[in-house]
Amino acid sequence: MKGSFRIARFFGIPVELHWTFGLIFLWVFYVVYDKTGRFDPLVLFWQTLFVLSIFLCVLLHEFGHALTARKYGVKTLDIILSPIGGVARLDRMPEKPIQEFWVAIAGPLVNGAIIVILSAYVLLLGNVQRSQFLDLIYLVVNPQSNTFFTADLSQFDFYIFGLIGLNAALAIFNLVPAFPLDGGRIFRALLSMRLPRLKATRIASLTGQVMAIALAVYGLATGNLITTMIGVFVYSTAAAEFRFVKMEETLNNARVADLVRKDFTTLINTWSTREILELLPHSLEKYFLVWDEQEEKYTGWVSEQMILQATKQAEAPFFPAIGEIQRSKLPEVQSEAPLKTAFNLMREEGASIVLVKEEEAIIGVLDMTMVEHFMAISRGLKKGAGKTKAES
Ligand SMILES: [Zn+2]
Repeated sequence: MKGSFRIARFFGIPVELHWTFGLIFLWVFYVVYDKTGRFDPLVLFWQTLFVLSIFLCVLLHEFGHALTARKYGVKTLDIILSPIGGVARLDRMPEKPIQEFWVAIAGPLVNGAIIVILSAYVLLLGNVQRSQFLDLIYLVVNPQSNTFFTADLSQFDFYIFGLIGLNAALAIFNLVPAFPLDGGRIFRALLSMRLPRLKATRIASLTGQVMAIALAVYGLATGNLITTMIGVFVYSTAAAEFRFVKMEETLNNARVADLVRKDFTTLINTWSTREILELLPHSLEKYFLVWDEQEEKYTGWVSEQMILQATKQAEAPFFPAIGEIQRSKLPEVQSEAPLKTAFNLMREEGASIVLVKEEEAIIGVLDMTMVEHFMAISRGLKKGAGKTKAES
């Protein structure tokens, strides 16, 4: 992701930090100065420690998602941490409702586990009375009473209570049933157990939008800009999730054979990119298979864009050959497979074109432009179909 840099790798999953995370520290310094009128090193120490702990709790939450997903064979591309929370970018969502349920709820469950551990520590080992417990948490999370450290709480206790409150907030906020929050996915998974996935997503998505509007209105009414912004963000993501599932559905209902282009241009690996460039204006294709003359087989693909780029960067008369600029990952798909299989394959392998086979014989190609074109046309067809129905 743009603006984020890799800081570590745990369980084989890269963890990236968004630069805006640094703003939190500036904010802490500002608040400390604003409240106390000076930079007390001790207060700054505890506040910085607290911010780092927020970071750690969000990270553990995301690993809850990522490691549960791994259990179901779903890879996590990376985990990105930003001030508004973390994202574990899963390669895909498991489609079995029960699996999606566990992946989604694993995050909030991690926060729950942290609460249980810290509470047990405070109640069993700390010097806090059981009867005071909830009052103290309230004191810590309630901004009005946030006077940093009250007399009868040690800074360490205050810190622990802050963490309990923080994890409660993380769990509750994420359980709001609206995409892209975990609650939205949990809700969809529960609905999917009874309903078709598309319908379940539509209901979950609409519920999310209602919640988002409520959140935005509440934010406006109370003058809380951040709540309003979260509302707007949740609203647009809820709609996007529905569009995404609808797209998946369309891709699932068509077969590769419905789209395959049997008449396609092959480029030979030894040809010069400069020569090909002259032919490009006459071609409707944007992606081409590359044939290796020595190996006598297809070894990769190139795009119009790659050829343009290569000739632009080259110094005449030394233009690279097609074989030198080709991408060597060329996925294959059976013509009987659903279009979605081909689409997922392209995404996973980073290929814009796939080889279409019938048993062992190559019968044609399928490329990204064709899939996009198909999606655009099916959206149009669906609208048209709805209209005729309404008119008749
Ligand atoms: Zn989560």
